[in-house]
Amino acid sequence: MSFKEKDKQYIANTYGRFDLHLVSGKGSLVCDDEGKEYIDMATGIAVNTFGVADEAWRAAVMAQLGQIQHTSNLYYSTPCIRLAELLCSRTGAKKVFFGNSGAEANECAIKVARKWAQDNFGKGDYTIITLKNSFHGRTITTLAATGQDVFHTDFNPFPAGFVYATANDLSSVEQCFTENKVCAVLMELVQGEGGVLPLDKDFVQGVEMLCRRHNALLMIDEVQTGNGRTGELYAFQGYGISPDVVSTAKGLGGGLPIGATMLFERVENTLTAGSHGSTFGGNPIAAAGAVSIIERIDEEVLQGVRIRSEYIVSELSGAEGIKSVSGLGLMLGVELERDVNEVLADCFQMGVLPIKAKNKMRLLPALNIPMELLKRAVAVIKAAAKGERI
Ligand SMILES: *Cc1c(COP(=O)(O)O)cnc(C)c1O
Repeated sequence: MSFKEKDKQYIANTYGRFDLHLVSGKGSLVCDDEGKEYIDMATGIAVNTFGVADEAWRAAVMAQLGQIQHTSNLYYSTPCIRLAELLCSRTGAKKVFFGNSGAEANECAIKVARKWAQDNFGKGDYTIITLKNSFHGRTITTLAATGQDVFHTDFNPFPAGFVYATANDLSSVEQCFTENKVCAVLMELVQGEGGVLPLDKDFVQGVEMLCRRHNALLMIDEVQTGNGRTGELYAFQGYGISPDVVSTAKGLGGGLPIGATMLFERVENTLTAGSHGSTFGGNPIAAAGAVSIIERIDEEVLQGVRIRSEYIVSELSGAEGIKSVSGLGLMLGVELERDVNEVLADCFQMGVLPIKAKNKMRLLPALNIPMELLKRAVAVIKAAAKGERI
């Protein structure tokens, strides 16, 4: 049996895989099993923040690997403490809970909202408003939070207590507040899986105002937008808002699984001993890697993200075969005239790896992708968009 046949036979068939087997890489160049090189415009799905086998990240991970790989959360862990302190000092959060994934980070946010409401207002105020077309994860509860009907068919019953407002329509959010006993709003600032759609600043600030007026928590899902991706360390910092909870994962570990739920002042003491936990959460190796990632994302790196973003947007906007470009920083969606699958296949052929979001091409390159590689990748994407080869 070929490895492809074995994959089909032995691995749960939850993924429609591209016909691609990446085996190695360096920075923004990755290599398949036949030695063909590609420019990586996806970094997993916004995970390999500084590309493949980045030296500083690798050194941090290897140093921790040589010390101790796991201790459990029954004991102190300095990589976790350093990471939590760093995240708090860079965001204004007061405390951090560590898990292993985006879904878990959101699950924790949801538990915090429910407990905070119960502690403060009693048992009835449990409803959480999320947005239509959102994506918050694959656990039963984060699927319930996800505002897309296609995710609500197979796994009934779902937990109650989620209502869905329309993005960029403040009156829709207001109506949800009026009709329900609401404890929190949970939303992405750029809907990633939903098609790389940024929320308007006015809308987001309006939602914050509604949260304050109705005594509800403002919770931002930065699983994908976080960790420098949008040109801010966290996207909320560019929206002029003060959230109560921020969840993140994907790029935080630079390639290793770690998620974080950042708790701001209003909820800093909501979680108490025994109220939540995770065996692997805040694994020392993942946390040591994450420290190196977050320490590295300074103003210069963020400026680099904005410069690269402007380059991509200016090259692709209005180009032949391209209908629109949306997104923020290095989280961009490209709406195409041709079928996205065909354009992607042509890009692969020409040695460039973007991914999809709905019917768009999605670009999530490393924050430090060298300009010369980015230029080549953009030239390939432009050619593929109009059905040409270069
Ligand atoms: C990817 C993603 C998640 C889920 O993260 P996992 O690590 O796959 O559990 C949740 N929210 C957003 C916005 C995401 O992009």
